[in-house]
Amino acid sequence: MEKIKSENYLINERIRWFIKLRWLAILGIVGAVYIADKIIAIPLPALRLYGVAVFLVIYNTFFSFLVFKPQAKTSKGLVWTNSIAHAQIALDLLSLAFLIHFSGGIENPFIFYFIFHMIIASILLSRRGAFLQATYAIFLFLFLVFLEYQGYIAHYCLKPVVPYCLHKETFYIFSVSVVFISTLYIAVYMASSISKQLKERERNLEKANKLLNEKDRIKSEYVLRVTHDIKEDLSTIQSCIEPVTEGITGQLNEKQLNLLQRAKKRSKSLIFYVNALLGITKMKLDKKFKTENFSFPQLIQDITENITPRARNKNIEFTVDVDSSIQRIEGVRVYIQESILNILANAIKYTPKGGKVSLKLTDKENSFLIKIEDNGIGIPEDELEYVFDEFYRAQNAREQEKLGTGLGLAIAKQVIERHKGKIWVESKKGEGTIFYIELPKQI
Ligand code: ADP
Repeated sequence: MEKIKSENYLINERIRWFIKLRWLAILGIVGAVYIADKIIAIPLPALRLYGVAVFLVIYNTFFSFLVFKPQAKTSKGLVWTNSIAHAQIALDLLSLAFLIHFSGGIENPFIFYFIFHMIIASILLSRRGAFLQATYAIFLFLFLVFLEYQGYIAHYCLKPVVPYCLHKETFYIFSVSVVFISTLYIAVYMASSISKQLKERERNLEKANKLLNEKDRIKSEYVLRVTHDIKEDLSTIQSCIEPVTEGITGQLNEKQLNLLQRAKKRSKSLIFYVNALLGITKMKLDKKFKTENFSFPQLIQDITENITPRARNKNIEFTVDVDSSIQRIEGVRVYIQESILNILANAIKYTPKGGKVSLKLTDKENSFLIKIEDNGIGIPEDELEYVFDEFYRAQNAREQEKLGTGLGLAIAKQVIERHKGKIWVESKKGEGTIFYIELPKQI
């Protein structure tokens, strides 16, 4: 079922491309007729040729309406999509036959343009379908040549191009027909073979991708279970240590107290780490991602209240600038808050005492841009590309700050990307760092 759905989607995409291509072809036809008629002055029934172009415009508009409607992309089945592709190719072949008829019939070298339709048919249709269209094209061609040969319909001689009319030259007709028929069938055979291989490869890639996603999900579920159990045990260990260090269970000597306080500090940092791991894993598995519409300035206000005391502790100048026009945004409030908070907390953490950290929120047309800047230790250039990877911590950050999970930015990146936004960083070691987040106003 999934396979059929994705195949249908692919054909639909290609039909859209085909329709766009046809608009170009129509322009080409009109241009070519104009040049042949007005500039080279070949005696052709220009009006009839323009008439075919009008016919093309009409049915291309009709097909555009059918496939560019929003619901057409997903709601129609494979049979419907295939029928559309067949109908378009059949009409194109008919139009080309008329164009050829009005411009010299068998004398017109453009008869070989039928090959393009054969290639398109091989891409869009099954191999059988493409051979069927090739047979139809050959029938149209032979029928046209026969009618002109018998004089049942007019022949428009392409005289300046050929020395004399060829529509009754039996041997010429025979040889062109043999070449024409074999060319069309060979073209379909070759193009559909390549197309079949590509479709097969596409399917295999899709399968591999699904398998990878499934494995990733199983891994995440495993990590979630393990971290959850570890967290529970760690909390118990901490709740056992606390009363002892606080002297509730009796007086401790200095050595005992020192050891227990170290154990308490380590378990606290482990809990912090496990919580971060739980956070990122939960989000990976969270399929629902329920968004809400909330006040963005209020969220910034909450973040500011959280960060200001930390900045004050390090004597860091912390400034916030929010465009007055900014009001509401769509998203998962708690996730966005955590992400911005994390980046700001990093800015404070990796900026020496007396430094500067700023947050600026600007209104772009369809999105908001958040810029978080500091003049701290910066990120070495060769490590910049890795800072959003899970567990990655830059060398200078590790030297300066032992505590850290390397998960904060990975979580933020995942949050922003699930909101269809972008996050990127600019930094110079020893000079400072700027993080940018662009979030769409509506998802
Ligand atoms: P953590 O801060 O716990 O190490 P993060 O995922 O939040 O993990 O950040 C990853 C790494 O990115 C950090 O270890 C640090 O090397 C670098 N980094 C992030 N923010 C800054 C910043 N404002 N200044 C310098 N380095 C930073």
